[in-house]
Amino acid sequence: MPRIIAIANQKGGVGKTTTCVNLAASLAAMKQRVLLVDLDPQGNATMGSGVDKYAVEQSIYDVLVHRTPVSEVAQPAGESGFHVLPANGDLTAAEVELMQVEGRERRLRASLATAAQDFDYILIDCPPSLNMLTLNGLVAADGVIIAMQCEYYALEGLSALMDTIRRVADSVNTSLQVEGILRTMYDPRNSLTNDVSSQLHGYFGDKVYRTVIPRNVRLAEAPSHGLPAMYYDRYSRGSRAYMALAGEIIRREEQRVAAATGVATDE
Ligand code: ADP
Ligand code: MG
Repeated sequence: MPRIIAIANQKGGVGKTTTCVNLAASLAAMKQRVLLVDLDPQGNATMGSGVDKYAVEQSIYDVLVHRTPVSEVAQPAGESGFHVLPANGDLTAAEVELMQVEGRERRLRASLATAAQDFDYILIDCPPSLNMLTLNGLVAADGVIIAMQCEYYALEGLSALMDTIRRVADSVNTSLQVEGILRTMYDPRNSLTNDVSSQLHGYFGDKVYRTVIPRNVRLAEAPSHGLPAMYYDRYSRGSRAYMALAGEIIRREEQRVAAATGVATDE
């Protein structure tokens, strides 16, 4: 079974999409089979993966609204070694079209279940709001990576996100957990960064990834070339940080699986 990870934060501009694309490429470089699901009508993860959102014939919209199989819609992210379920502006209509549909927040979960054998990791890039699309992401996921910038207002929106995660975990998706807290655009020279960092450690403990993503111009430039940073500037600090994050995630996953099977054999 793949590990399904939603990358969320209803705040925009915190590095969700950058994380999705670069983590997908890094996990793929580590021989993992990866599907990136773009759930944002802006389609930035799609474009950043080298897929032209204006040229796609089918998109995540068709998966959600018409139940088109994932295998028909997914496409390779250029030469980057992972697959993408692309999104574009069509997706804004999905919320309205699914309004009257029973179980609309389970659409993505049901679709991904049919593609489970094909992937080791499925990464879901959530839009910057707590709408029906994000809900679909959370209902489909095993874990949530919360991407956040260590700035003064960063913690403010967190309680609404945590409430939403808790509500989903208490109802439709009881296995949902916070997978990890990722500090993005990190600047250790800023004392506020350190304050927020220690608050995060206090609240989330070892869920906070050791890897931090530095502020790095290569990460901001790469999307305009339709490339993950590692194929734009392999040795940039940004691309190395995402490789480190992929390593940390794979190690955590191995530990989780070992612990789970350990419990199983004790029974
Ligand atoms: P979100 O998906 O949360 O809205 P993005 O990943 O699109 O955020 O990032 C917002 C902007 O910041 C983009 O222009 C992106 O290129 C830039 N960016 C993201 N992460 C970094 C980083 N670590 N260093 C420099 N720029 C970054
Ligand atoms: Mg985004």
